[in-house]
Amino acid sequence: MKDTHLNRRSMIKAAVGLGAISTGFATVGHVAQAGTHNGTPKEGLISIHQLGPVTLHTYTSPEYSGMVNSHVIETTNELHLVDTQFFQTLASEFKAYVDSLGKPIKRIYLSHSHPDHLFGAVQFPGIEFITSDEVLAEAKTATKTYQARKEALKDKTEVVLPVGGLKTGSDTWDGLEVQIGQVLDAESAAELTIHIPEAGLYVAQDLLYANAHTFPINNSENWLAALKDMQKLEGIKVFGSGHGLPGAPGVIDDAIAYLNFQNTVISDNTDGDSATAEILKKYPRYGAKDVLSFIGYRYKK
Ligand SMILES: [Zn+2]
Repeated sequence: MKDTHLNRRSMIKAAVGLGAISTGFATVGHVAQAGTHNGTPKEGLISIHQLGPVTLHTYTSPEYSGMVNSHVIETTNELHLVDTQFFQTLASEFKAYVDSLGKPIKRIYLSHSHPDHLFGAVQFPGIEFITSDEVLAEAKTATKTYQARKEALKDKTEVVLPVGGLKTGSDTWDGLEVQIGQVLDAESAAELTIHIPEAGLYVAQDLLYANAHTFPINNSENWLAALKDMQKLEGIKVFGSGHGLPGAPGVIDDAIAYLNFQNTVISDNTDGDSATAEILKKYPRYGAKDVLSFIGYRYKK
């Protein structure tokens, strides 16, 4: 392995420092373009999955913002949001779409500390914004980098951090059983998952890049183990991805194959450019090509 100069955990920490913005693209799943809501976005794509007692609405940003997903989990009486976009223009379109649904926002969850999931939180003042203590701790270590990243983007808004304290295990949302999970030291230092068994919905966020190039700074061993655990789940109709459109269970098989391939290529090459070329040759139609620009960090001494 040529990527052992940084240990895995420090690599993942470095990923936060890089202001990681990663990308995704997908063609899998039952996708409908929303056309009738007043909140129809100009730039992002809305996909909608009807899942029994739940409707999953996913806002996917354009490729230039990594096709990053913000999800709305709509129950009978309320909305639970997961992640809030990177660019403020896109976060405000997402907010307009959420408002068009006409139900109160119960909470916003931050799945992990990467800024492409966090920066748009400022668009939702007064709404409870929550994550686990582990995700919050990681976000706090990145505060300076977040600020620098915002300056580079000419984003004048403040960084809004969530509160911690979200526990893993069983919860109830509007009468529905929800299982909150967390995977440590994989795509990021800590990543929340949300499973609603009655709906057949599992939101994996950045543990799943659907038909997309995946963030190459990671602990792939833990990440693969988490994906294999998802493969064993029964009754899932839709996996909510962090990048690329949500999809049916086959997206997990694809993500495992991709991650194994990416890992092998990074090990077999001696620099980021050649590794990137080999990956693009094998996956010419995957979205989120910009995420591969982070590969060079795997070869830093
Ligand atoms: Zn992401």
